[in-house]
Amino acid sequence: MHALALFRRDLRIKDNPALTAAMQHGNAVALYVLDDDADGRPLGGAARWWLHHAIARLQGQLDAIGVPLVLAQGPQNDVVEAIVAQLQADAVFWNRRYTPWGIAADTELKSRLRANSISAESFAGAYLREPWEVQTKQGGWFKVFTPFYKASMALGEPSYPLPAPAPQPKPALCPLGQTLESLRLLPTKPDWAGGLRRAWPAHAEAGEERLALFLESLVEGYTQTRNRPDLDGTSALSPYLAFGELSPRQVWHATRHAQAGNPNTATGGESFLREIVWRDFSSNLLYHFPDLPTKPFQEKFQRFPWADDKPSLLAWQKGKTGYPWIDAGMRQLWETGWMHNRVRMGAASFLCKHLLLPWWLGEAWFWDTLVDADPAQNIANWQWVAGCGADAAPYFRIFNPVTQGEKFDETGHYLKRWQPDAAGYAPGAGGIPPIVEHKAARERALAALQSLADKPAALA
Ligand code: FAD
Repeated sequence: MHALALFRRDLRIKDNPALTAAMQHGNAVALYVLDDDADGRPLGGAARWWLHHAIARLQGQLDAIGVPLVLAQGPQNDVVEAIVAQLQADAVFWNRRYTPWGIAADTELKSRLRANSISAESFAGAYLREPWEVQTKQGGWFKVFTPFYKASMALGEPSYPLPAPAPQPKPALCPLGQTLESLRLLPTKPDWAGGLRRAWPAHAEAGEERLALFLESLVEGYTQTRNRPDLDGTSALSPYLAFGELSPRQVWHATRHAQAGNPNTATGGESFLREIVWRDFSSNLLYHFPDLPTKPFQEKFQRFPWADDKPSLLAWQKGKTGYPWIDAGMRQLWETGWMHNRVRMGAASFLCKHLLLPWWLGEAWFWDTLVDADPAQNIANWQWVAGCGADAAPYFRIFNPVTQGEKFDETGHYLKRWQPDAAGYAPGAGGIPPIVEHKAARERALAALQSLADKPAALA
């Protein structure tokens, strides 16, 4: 008899309760299924590139503990049933997902397996807490971050991460899966991933090393540097967290350890952990409001007069808006698959407010180009910036793409790196004429918001 451990966005052997349970059961085999429906839509190009390397890293880790990894492609539940039959497995283990698609598929899987007398067990591993654990006093769920954060902290420290399981003897039987190459996750014609390769180390310990480096030398100043794209001031751990190469509990307790060892990291560590709770918050929003991918959290935005303007969308995507701050961010995104959070906010605000383009078009572009693309984080953050999300930035707060650059790129290093031709952050300074004029665009956006308020209540 064999146990099957299912891997999704939890591509690690440490702090992986499903894998640990499968190995305790005995004769564990791991399975990763590339399923286009896993996130409600196929992964974007940059995330596929990341996934390829994350699977390779996982393969190495599993090898070391005697667990074979089977790779397959297709609808998850059909593949699992087929592999269970080939393996004559009597138990399947996985870590829970909280997206509408993940829940639907995994609920169905559980009943399909149990109908065939196969044991199916799921565990918590993706977040600090499960979405139903953080509740209001009335037993409801939070729509605003700060009370969510306080309630989450009031539950005490998240549980300790599990160690990597002890090695097992390699199971005698193992179905032949696909090769990693045959999943075709890497771009070939053309190979546009040179920038990604330069930006991200591919070796197995890269995530843990980056966490250690961050906690050793960067977290101390994090409260001040987190908004500075010109500095190496944030953890850059988002893709490792998005694909579960690191668990948030590992990050949490490593930070606590650093704080205990060096009092100077107390404040920076606290600000950093607050961001890890934001990650939980976005996931909770999607769990409790599963329409978030297609509907604005604030209903009145259903009648927002979004523009239909393909040329402006293309200019934004290509980093040719004529605003060096926005164009630098879009260039960084295109080349490295990552953009600093401060610039993400500016670029997203520019799309929704200066260009009046619907947030979901920007979200789709980020989905395709981010190595850390994560359904809950991307959708919740886009709605937040657009002003229609939970606890959203008020619509009238329109980031000024000139002063934001001047303020947050104090040294000018960011501009030099990503818009070397631009002399400063003034519109047109990079030689590209601005596609909109800031003041007029701002007024147009405010008028659009006003149009929501003007409607009689009956239409609201
Ligand atoms: P750090 O500042 O070091 O923060 C540590 C971790 O906390 C991050 O790795 C991340 O997991 C979490 N975190 C930080 N900021 C946020 C936030 N605003 N919301 C939720 N979690 C956060 N993050 C993604 O992981 N995937 C996405 O698809 C994504 N899309 C975004 C889209 C927009 C429009 C915006 C404004 C933000 C988006 N973010 C997304 C959140 C944030 O920008 C990134 O998590 C962050 O920039 C990653 O860099 P870091 O790891 O250095 O962050």
